[in-house]
Amino acid sequence: MKRVLVLGGGFAGVEAAIYLRKKKLDVTLVSDRDYFYIYPTSIWIPTGEVTKEDVSVPLAKLAKNHGFELIVDPVAELLASEKKVTLSSGRVLDDYRYIVVALGQDKMKHKGMENTLSICGKPEEATALYEKLDALVLKGEGKIAMGFGGNPKDTSAVRGGPAFEVLFNVDTYLKKKGVRKNFELTFFAPMHKPGMKMGEKALVMMDKMFGMMNIHKQVGSKITNFVEDGIEFEDGTKVESDLTMFISAGTGHSIIADSGLPLSDAGFVVTNEYNEIEGFEGIYAIGDSASLMGPEWRAKQGHVAEVMAKNVAVNIFNDIENIDAKESYEEHLNILCVMDTGNGAAFVYRSEKGGKMIPMPIVGHWMKKGWGWYCRHSKLGNIPRIPGM
Ligand SMILES: Cc1cc2nc3c(=O)[nH]c(=O)nc-3n(C[C@H](O)[C@H](O)[C@H](O)COP(=O)(O)OP(=O)(O)OC[C@H]3O[C@@H](n4cnc5c(N)ncnc54)[C@H](O)[C@@H]3O)c2cc1C
Repeated sequence: MKRVLVLGGGFAGVEAAIYLRKKKLDVTLVSDRDYFYIYPTSIWIPTGEVTKEDVSVPLAKLAKNHGFELIVDPVAELLASEKKVTLSSGRVLDDYRYIVVALGQDKMKHKGMENTLSICGKPEEATALYEKLDALVLKGEGKIAMGFGGNPKDTSAVRGGPAFEVLFNVDTYLKKKGVRKNFELTFFAPMHKPGMKMGEKALVMMDKMFGMMNIHKQVGSKITNFVEDGIEFEDGTKVESDLTMFISAGTGHSIIADSGLPLSDAGFVVTNEYNEIEGFEGIYAIGDSASLMGPEWRAKQGHVAEVMAKNVAVNIFNDIENIDAKESYEEHLNILCVMDTGNGAAFVYRSEKGGKMIPMPIVGHWMKKGWGWYCRHSKLGNIPRIPGM
């Protein structure tokens, strides 16, 4: 019997496969795409600073360098009670002692969403954003609106940071092109205090940044419809837009919905702090697929997904070796982000002690670039890992 089956080749799945291999376990990773996508640095695709290829790492290279088996074939069904996985090709995988579910999340659906593009959706959408922005720049004028939505059932699945980052980058880009004065930029979100997870101090600073960049704000009213030329809100207002970037909040993955695993109200897999699932021995859920426990401000993030993945590698190894010890993710819960503006960044950190946002002009942008390089090469095994990163 083979040892471990990892479902999903994102931050959680790839990290789990790498660390399970460090424990010398047999690992098979199943992915619907043939590359690992570095979402945090994809924010530069819309402004043409990088391409989709620049932020993608071939899974075949990762598999070769770390010695795990790779199957590129979407998971069509997971029958958790039988530890049986059926792939789109019809192939059945049912001889694994352990399964690690790392399929990420789906996005909430909103009326008229086909009129929007997202930086957090399919990677192709980031390239489409670039093409649409480029066409507007060629035209020399336009209205651009960017924002994010909420999930009342699970605030940890709300992803706002990349909306701010892309908007600030677009502002910088338009200034570089000398056409900023011909563009109207608007940030929108249905909640009264979007970005509140970062803490009050950060919100004050964000407002200052919006003011300095002349970015309009439309917040505090529910989005009712996305239309071809803008966004309509419950309070009757409409933001006109030639290009709408909208990050819908996350919801449970459709494969997980039918898996028989215990789910939260928002459709994420309910686990304990060791990412184990009650009643399903040998199955673990990690990363965005798992229902994140913790304080109100908690957020589904890449570094949390990686902590879960490393822990699960240890927990599976310890289970095999009958070692009575388990790793928990709880003490690693924080929000950590270098929020890029295209010409600098702000360091955002939130823990149970409160939140802080530290401006890092110029150097912050290059730090994030450096992290992207580190992420690619450390995952490939070309350079050693920095502890905690
Ligand atoms: C634009 C953006 C910027 C971000 N910036 C930051 C940041 O600065 N810091 C931070 O910590 N976090 C950041 N995040 C969040 C972070 O990227 C996520 O938390 C992280 O990707 C979660 O990892 P995951 O493996 O659980 O999910 P994903 O990375 O989404 O991986 C899921 C994988 O499963 C695969 N999959 C899906 N369905 C199937 C199927 N049916 N069969 C097989 N495979 C399937 C997908 O192809 C994907 O590779 C950002 C996210 C986005 C979108």
